[in-house]
Amino acid sequence: MISLFDMFKIGIGPSSSHTMGPMVAAGKFIDELLQQYDLSDIERIQVDLYGSLASTGKGHATDTACILGLLGFKADKIDTNKVDEYLAPVLNEQLLNFAGKQVISFNYDTDIVWHPQTTLPHHPNGLSFTAYIEGEIALEKNYYSIGGGFVATEDEYSSEDTQSSSEADSVAITSDSNVPYPFQNGNELLAQCKKHNLSISDVMMANELSLRDEATIYQYLDEVWEVMQQCVKNGCKGEGILPGGLKVKRRAKDMYRQLLDELESPKKSADKLMAMDWVDLFALAVNEENANGGRVVTAPTNGAAGIIPAVLHYYRDFLPHYKQQGVREFLLTAAAIGTIIKQNASISGAEVGCQGEVGSACAMAAAGLAHVMGLTPSQCTNAAEIGIEHNLGLTCDPIGGLVQVPCIERNAMGAVKAINAARLASRGDGEHHVPLDKAIATMKATGADMMDKYKETAMGGLAVHAYNPEQHADGSRIDVVEIGVGYPQC
Ligand code: SF4
Repeated sequence: MISLFDMFKIGIGPSSSHTMGPMVAAGKFIDELLQQYDLSDIERIQVDLYGSLASTGKGHATDTACILGLLGFKADKIDTNKVDEYLAPVLNEQLLNFAGKQVISFNYDTDIVWHPQTTLPHHPNGLSFTAYIEGEIALEKNYYSIGGGFVATEDEYSSEDTQSSSEADSVAITSDSNVPYPFQNGNELLAQCKKHNLSISDVMMANELSLRDEATIYQYLDEVWEVMQQCVKNGCKGEGILPGGLKVKRRAKDMYRQLLDELESPKKSADKLMAMDWVDLFALAVNEENANGGRVVTAPTNGAAGIIPAVLHYYRDFLPHYKQQGVREFLLTAAAIGTIIKQNASISGAEVGCQGEVGSACAMAAAGLAHVMGLTPSQCTNAAEIGIEHNLGLTCDPIGGLVQVPCIERNAMGAVKAINAARLASRGDGEHHVPLDKAIATMKATGADMMDKYKETAMGGLAVHAYNPEQHADGSRIDVVEIGVGYPQC
C-alpha cells in the first residue's frame, strides 16, 4: 500500500527532486553521522552534486537546499520567508551551524562541488555528503533524489533489482500491506467499494487506519489543505520576476486584482465561465509560489502541485455544501487514484513525460471532485480515466529546465480539465468505454515509447524551440544541451 502521506508531502519549491529531495538527503546524512560520531568531532562537511543536480542545481536551489538541510531544517517545517536569513551566515561568513548545534567552517565555493558531467551509478539525481574529522573522511554517503521528494540510499538501490526510479520509489515507500481493503488497480478498488458498499474515500481511509489513528490522519489532511490555501494566498501577493534566469513575470497578483474588480462589474460578473478564471488563478498562484521556492504540497509532484489545490478551491468557492470533511474525502479519493497510477505506471515526468505529472494530478483531482459532487465510485474512476485519457502523450519540455514554462500554465489547464472530467462523468452512469486501468496502462506504454528528450530533459519540445540562451546570461544553469545530457527537473 502507498499511503496518502506518501502522495501528499508538505515541502518547499521549486522541485521535489532538485530541492526537497536534497534537503531530505542532508537530514538523512546527519542522522547517519550522529549514530556513529559526536557532533563536536565534526570539522568539515563537503557536498558533491552529480548529473542533473549539478547541471540545473543552481536554478533549482539544490545548493541552498543542501545547506538548509545541513543546518538541520526540514522541508515541511522550514519558514520559507526566512531562507535568506538562515543562509546568510553560511554565504557571508563561511559559518555553518551544523544540525543546528555545532558551528563549523563551510566555504560555499569549495565545499559544494559540482559534477554536471558525471552521474552516480543508479540515477541522474545523485549527491553525496562527506564528513571529515581530523582531516580524514569519517563518513561518506551517496543519495539519490528519485522524484516526489523521495530519497533512496545507496544501500536501498541494488543495481540488480532496481532499474528505474519507480522501482526505487517502492524501495522508499514501504508501508504495512496488511490493510482491510487492498487494491492494486482501479478494477480491484471498484470491487472493494461494491462488495463492502463503500466509497473510494472510505476504502482509502480504512486502509490508512491500519497505519495511523484517525486523529493523526485527519490532522494531516487538514494541514495539507491549510498549506494549500496559504500557498494560494501567498501566490496572490507575490510579484516580480521568478528566479532561475528565464525572467518569467509573476502574474497571479495582477490577475487576482482584476478578478476582484470584475466582481464589481455586473456585466463581467454575469460571465458564467468566470469560475474558470478563478481556477486558473488558484493554479497559477500555487505554481508561481513553487517556482519561487515557497511552501507547497507535492500533489503528487511539485511541478503539478497546482492542480489539486485549484480544484479544491473551486469546490470551496463555487460548489454548494462545501465542508471540511468534504476536503478530507476529496484528498483521500485523489490519493487512492494517485497510488494506482504510481503502482501501475508512473507519476514521474522523467519516466513518462508530463502525462505522469500533470496527467496524474488531473486524474486525482477529477476523482476527488467527482466524489464531493456526490458521484458513485465508478463515476469517480470514470472522471479519473477521463483526466488521464486527455493528457495521454503530454510531453515534458520545461524551457531552460525550470519548472516555469510551460509548467505553471499547464497546471491551470490541468485543473480546468479535471473539473470538466468530473462534470462529464456526472452525466454518465459510471460505465466507461475505456476503463481506468487501460488508460493507466496506455500512459505507461506511451511513456515507454516517448523519446527521452520529452522526459524532463529540457532537450525537446518548447525547451528547445522556445529556448533563448541569452535569457540565461546570469549563469544560473549549465546548458544541458551543451553538455549533451538531460535530466529530470521537477
Ligand atoms: S512540463 Fe515537465 S517539468 Fe513541467 S510540470 Fe510537466 S513534467 Fe514537470
